[in-house]
Amino acid sequence: MTTKCIACGMPMTNSADHANNDTATAYCTHCARPDGSMKSHDEVLDGMAAFMVQTQGIDKSAARQMARQAIKNLPAWSAH
Ligand SMILES: [Zn+2]
Repeated sequence: MTTKCIACGMPMTNSADHANNDTATAYCTHCARPDGSMKSHDEVLDGMAAFMVQTQGIDKSAARQMARQAIKNLPAWSAH
């Protein structure tokens, strides 16, 4: 069964994609801190923006705007 990370929307297909290798965790390894807790909205946003800069070669402010759009409808941030 495929679930999606509640924080970044990444599909999680096996336990290694989940934080702590635990399929009961609703967020992915990229959205977890080293201690296994979920990152904050800004931490996830920064990580996603950095990824877009790297993979799409766009500038940082444009990447942050795109990242904000991409994550604003995700369940983890519905209160934002
Ligand atoms: Zn994630």
